[in-house]
Amino acid sequence: MIAIFPGSFDPVTLGHHDIIQRAAPLFSKLIVAVLHNPAKNPLFTVNERVDMLQHLVKDIPNVEVAEYTGLLAGFAREKNAKYLVRSLRSEADCAYEMPMAQANSKLGTDLETVVFFAAPAYIYLSSGMVREVAAVGYTSDFDDTVLDQWVPAAVKAMLRMKLASTKQ
Ligand code: ADP
Repeated sequence: MIAIFPGSFDPVTLGHHDIIQRAAPLFSKLIVAVLHNPAKNPLFTVNERVDMLQHLVKDIPNVEVAEYTGLLAGFAREKNAKYLVRSLRSEADCAYEMPMAQANSKLGTDLETVVFFAAPAYIYLSSGMVREVAAVGYTSDFDDTVLDQWVPAAVKAMLRMKLASTKQ
């Protein structure tokens, strides 16, 4: 019962953390897999994203963090994983995830997508929103306590470091 929770995690949010905590007990191993896709022009390098995730899941024994490139189905085969974990915040997520789940089940042998509903507190939360608020915020006078409801403390510190260092 090995599952993969794939994503960009740029950066990991409390919404992702909630899904990891809820999914981990259902599987023998949950691999949180960070997509290495430089074309997406991420804010954080893949190593930074992996480090932030590793720090976050260090007390959950059956969760490990990895990076992958290329087709998810290939990575799943390599890891002997039969399940993918994804989550839905909205109908838009659902419309995106349904064809992805079908494609992955065709590409991977018996690859089953297990879907979680996002917790109400995190339905409006996305990594993109965090990046935008932090990018604009840290270039002005910013009470960054707003970030505490969206990201773990270590991620907030990384955002501050990264965006303060790129400030003109
Ligand atoms: P992707 O680039 O695949 O969209 P993300 O890192 O944004 O990568 O998301 C990975 C998974 O986490 C997706 O299934 C997404 O729906 C889910 N997710 C993203 N944000 C939240 C959130 N706030 N609450 C619950 N699930 C989330």
